[in-house]
Amino acid sequence: MSTMNTVGRPTTPNRVESKPATLTGGRGLLQNAALIFEGEGWGKTGVDLPEPQGDASDLGDLVRRDPIGLPGLSEPEAMRHYVRLSQKNHAIDLAIYPLGSCTMKHNPRLNEKMARLPGFSDIHPLQPQSTVQGALELMDSLSHWLTTLTGMPAVALSPKAGAHGELCGLMAIRAAHRAAGHGLRSDKPRNKVLVPTSAHGTNPATAAFVGYTVVEIAQTNDGRVDLADLEAKLGDDVAAIMVTNPNTCGLFERDILEISRLTHEAGAYFYCDGANFNAIVGRVRPGDLGVDAMHINLHKTFSTPHGGGGPGAGPVVLSEALAPFAPTPWVVGGKDGFKLVEFAEDEAEQAFGRLCAFQGQMGMYVRALSYMMSHGSDGLRQVAEDAVLNANYIKARLEDLMSPAFPEGPCMHEALFDDEWLKGTDITTLDFAKAMIDEGFHPMTMYFPLVVHGAMLIEPTETESKAELDRFIHAMRALAEAAKAGDVDRFKGAPFHAPMKRLDETRAARQPVLRWTAPDGSNRAA
Ligand SMILES: *Cc1c(COP(=O)(O)O)cnc(C)c1O
Repeated sequence: MSTMNTVGRPTTPNRVESKPATLTGGRGLLQNAALIFEGEGWGKTGVDLPEPQGDASDLGDLVRRDPIGLPGLSEPEAMRHYVRLSQKNHAIDLAIYPLGSCTMKHNPRLNEKMARLPGFSDIHPLQPQSTVQGALELMDSLSHWLTTLTGMPAVALSPKAGAHGELCGLMAIRAAHRAAGHGLRSDKPRNKVLVPTSAHGTNPATAAFVGYTVVEIAQTNDGRVDLADLEAKLGDDVAAIMVTNPNTCGLFERDILEISRLTHEAGAYFYCDGANFNAIVGRVRPGDLGVDAMHINLHKTFSTPHGGGGPGAGPVVLSEALAPFAPTPWVVGGKDGFKLVEFAEDEAEQAFGRLCAFQGQMGMYVRALSYMMSHGSDGLRQVAEDAVLNANYIKARLEDLMSPAFPEGPCMHEALFDDEWLKGTDITTLDFAKAMIDEGFHPMTMYFPLVVHGAMLIEPTETESKAELDRFIHAMRALAEAAKAGDVDRFKGAPFHAPMKRLDETRAARQPVLRWTAPDGSNRAA
């Protein structure tokens, strides 16, 4: 029997369902519950509100007369609905989340406790500054940790994600060039940004968004920036280079000092994508490498939840040359306490503006500082060491069966394989990843970086124990052996055991169905 997925595409017949299917669609204590709109909760209410008195509304004829069209649920029904949904998903609190580039690490509960302290969670960004001195001090301390760890003189805290940090860095670079007479509309514009082929998609997207022409830098066979190609492309029309280090192949850019020297000689700025800072934190200071601007994903390196779990934060550290252009606001401390510099005047005269309405993601600042202070400087160094050790353990235990994309030498914090080892099996990277779900493991990042064919990028992070890594490795080896032995069915129809089968993810992204439609075609919820 073929089933339909959420976007209406028939999926492959399910081997498990052709075995004794359950009578209800439930499975192993998980009920196959209907959508919240398909239940019987109409006309019911979970709370007891007083009848509204009179018709005191100012809305006149615009007052709604029809029912609002939302299902009504009692408290236990509402709880069950959301807990059931959560059970259909993966969570870092269930098992390893080996997504490369995403750095899905455990989020210590201490961070959560700190973020919920009323002095941080119940304040308003427009409160008088005299009443939020503690919060401003926390931002000042976080700035201190970030500038110390990176060896950079200034930081803009407010960007709300890595990509937003890239925007911040490139806007500071654009402002600096403009101040020097090389703005995009000047006679001698610096209008190009150089980006390696392996870069995260946000890098070229940001450069284009800021108005730059993106020029690709080639990669060497060992997965690093091609210096000769970089040198050939650098010139007086280049505003900046954007290089990730360690890069998205999980490798340290050995020529980083030469890269920054060449860039500065050409009068360009060095933007470093710092999403992989967790591999070098406490061991290498980007300021010593000649970096001019670098975002730090607090939600990766410093453990705060992300993805479906919460908002991110992408503070940007800046060199002496770019610091004057940093966006407002920032915190300064003096004998009268802490205050926010909010406007582009006085010492902030050259600030390029602001990136968001208020101060940024306060809850993420608290979590990140809590993580830093609980580890201490020695603990943060160990974070980098353990993250790299764990990735190399995985690489070493899988490289006899799977093909590492860059077999030479150790990797940094993520192990990258290509699909060479699947050649002739009729199994793709996607098939392999779906079969991992059946074995209880969330797949690694697939098909990224784009420069590696059928890429499988595994990032264990420092928070996984050897026992969990061994379980993961055991499953990966068992699957790899099954693939090589020709057990194609196990892969082609996978996942057999997940509540959802293979979704048409491209169509879901391009034509999202965001509204439930009743079987009679009506939209009950308005
Ligand atoms: C995650 C990531 C980004 C983007 O960061 P967001 O916080 O998701 O916007 C940029 N570059 C690299 C290498 C990344 O891994």
